[in-house]
This record gives sequence, structure tokens and C-alpha cells, in this order.
Amino acid sequence: MYPEKVYSDHSSWAIARNETYWLSCVAPKSGPKLQGWATPEQMIANMDAAGIEKAVVLGWYWENSATCIENIGWQLEWIRDYSKRFIAFAPFNANGGQTAFDSVKRALDFGFKGIGELNPPAQGYDYENEWLDRILSMISEYNAIVNLHVTDPSTHDYPGKIETPIQSLKAMVDRHPKTKFIFAHLGGMMELPELKRLPNVYLDTAATPLLYDSDIYRKAIEQIGVDRILFGTDYPLRTLPKKQELPDFTSHLAQLKNAGLAEKEVEKIVSLNAYSLLA
Ligand SMILES: [Zn+2]
Repeated sequence: MYPEKVYSDHSSWAIARNETYWLSCVAPKSGPKLQGWATPEQMIANMDAAGIEKAVVLGWYWENSATCIENIGWQLEWIRDYSKRFIAFAPFNANGGQTAFDSVKRALDFGFKGIGELNPPAQGYDYENEWLDRILSMISEYNAIVNLHVTDPSTHDYPGKIETPIQSLKAMVDRHPKTKFIFAHLGGMMELPELKRLPNVYLDTAATPLLYDSDIYRKAIEQIGVDRILFGTDYPLRTLPKKQELPDFTSHLAQLKNAGLAEKEVEKIVSLNAYSLLA
């Protein structure tokens, strides 16, 4: 979801801001064109069609702190205009130092519930960055959450794939036992038994239809427990391109509901876990 001015000419918009990594993800030079776009009104219509009351809108992992701040500005408008439908997580780039830190603090004061999606290797800083550590400590004081992009090295290559070393992620969680972490894309499936010892780590299911078969949900539940899995989509990416001409929520939701899980398990993944985490 972006303002129309961003996606109507995404190339010029990105080049003017030096956001070339984002451009390579949303408009890859080769491979299928999976990126969709949505305005808040389109997203709400898609949510209504899927019976979704409320959604968390994440920021992109911009390479420049100034773009993160611009993105926070869009989100402020969205949660002001549609406070009953959207929850916001602020983008953050540690290279922005104090200015980036202050922009996130202001966002949290305004009602943002977390930060993310963060992807330090794609954003040009390390997991050991001082400002990242500071922001992770600060958000725990707000009981806010951080969402991190996590790549499974065993999955196939896709546009923009960057390794996210699981050892660095785990060391970061160890440094911040009071901060709540969401590892995106069922983060690091191969490390789930290890993640189990980190009680403050949750996983989301964003983009999983592109990466795994639907038996992945059962595998994840068996290894980390159903209470720590959250329904995420990567909307407006078309993650089930054979079923979707345009972005929607119904396709991924149907895939989850038809994955052989108990009704109670689905209910936890799509709503109850988020309620307790965001409360
Ligand atoms: Zn991601």
C-alpha cells in the first residue's frame, strides 16, 4: 500500500530517492511480475471481501532514513483516517541515527504499535548497530513490537533475495529479552527448534505461498507452537499468482483454512495471537 504518486511512476519516484533496492524488488528486470499496488481504500475493500476487520500496515525497509520518515507520514494519515481498520509499524533505518530514533519515538507516541519490516543487510547497517540496539530497547518500553525480514537459505532464489544470518538474529534477540520480535515469512524454518528457546520470538506467514507448500503451517506449529504464529500476507504482493489477477486477502486466507488445521488453530493464527500480542 502506497500513495498513488509513488506507484504511478515508481521508477522515477525511487530513483529520485536513491531507493534502488526497493525498485529491484517491485519491478524486477526478469521473472514474474508479482507486485500489486493498493490505496487505503482498495486495501479496505480487499479486507472487507475477506472478512478482515483490522490489519497491521508495515513500512518498507528503505535504504535511506529520509524515505522512512516520508513513509511514516503516509501511515500517520492512514491510521488517522481509518483508525478502526489499520495499525501501523514504522519503518526505521539505523543509519539515520538520532533523527531516525526520534521519528520512531514520535510515531509510537502517536499510536504506532511497532517498527518494521526491518532488513538490516538490505538497508546498509549491521545487526550489531548501536542505533538498532537503542531502538529495540526503546520500543520495549512502549510494549511495541519489531518485525524483521528473515530469509530461509534453503528456499529458491527470488528477486531481491538477501541472506539474513540467523546467528546474528538470535544474538540480537538474546541482547533484548524484553523486546517482542516477529520474524517474517515463518522466519528461518530450518532454525525453528532453536527459536523455541527464545520466548519473545513470533513468526508471521507473509509470502509463504510463494516459498512453501501448505503443509508448512503444520510443520511450523509442531516446532514452535500455534501461539507464536501470526497471519501475514505481504499484500499487495500477489503471492498466489495463479489464483490472483489482482492483490487480495482471500486467496492466502483460503490456503491457510484448507491446510488441514483445526478451526481453533486457524483462529489463533488469524486473530487471537495478534490480539494478545498487540493488547
Ligand atoms: Zn520480508
